[in-house]
Amino acid sequence: MTVLVAAVSLILSFTVSSIHLRSSAVATDRVRAQAAADAAALAAVAEGTIYGSASPEEQARLFAERNGGELIECDCLSGSYRVQVEVEVGEATAVAAAMIDPTMLMPADATSPRGLHPRLAVSIERLIAVAQGRVYLVSGFRSTQQQSLLWDRALSRYGSPEAADDWVAPPGNSMHERGLAVDLGGDLLQAAALADSLGLPLYRPLANEPWHFELVGSRR
Ligand SMILES: [Zn+2]
Repeated sequence: MTVLVAAVSLILSFTVSSIHLRSSAVATDRVRAQAAADAAALAAVAEGTIYGSASPEEQARLFAERNGGELIECDCLSGSYRVQVEVEVGEATAVAAAMIDPTMLMPADATSPRGLHPRLAVSIERLIAVAQGRVYLVSGFRSTQQQSLLWDRALSRYGSPEAADDWVAPPGNSMHERGLAVDLGGDLLQAAALADSLGLPLYRPLANEPWHFELVGSRR
């Protein structure tokens, strides 16, 4: 579960948080409540997906407590891709919501990275084989039509092309459409370390997308 939460927190589309104070006295409680609420929301949303096993509410309660808080409310149906929790620490309560883009959680067929540049395909197959289940392929080659779908979804979620552009490339502009990029899931630090130690021609050009790996030399 811990590993899953770590991976999921990296691919969270976004989290929305707000704080309600019943007393202005304790700033520390406020900070701790928000941290506990964030942790609880992340744990619950991860648990609610197809990879989860326990109930999202139990996970939210567990992670709230591990962070010194108490779960007050959990709006988290199993199977839902959005949860909202309220957590109390001392005099403060905090609300946090977490959301997962379900398409980012579906492992692609890792044995057949069709449409990828052959050099990238070979590198990714090697990396996934050596990682022994700790790293998997989430998204490889995308048609322009698939990229358009992602773009439209990002537009409605982030409100403007400028904001959407931070997360998804507009159709016609993604390295995925050229077969030169993959998105990996699982242990991304492990993936990067393996790419390094195996001498694979892979790198991560986008600071805000740690899951996005490209073939070295494909950008100039
Ligand atoms: Zn990508």
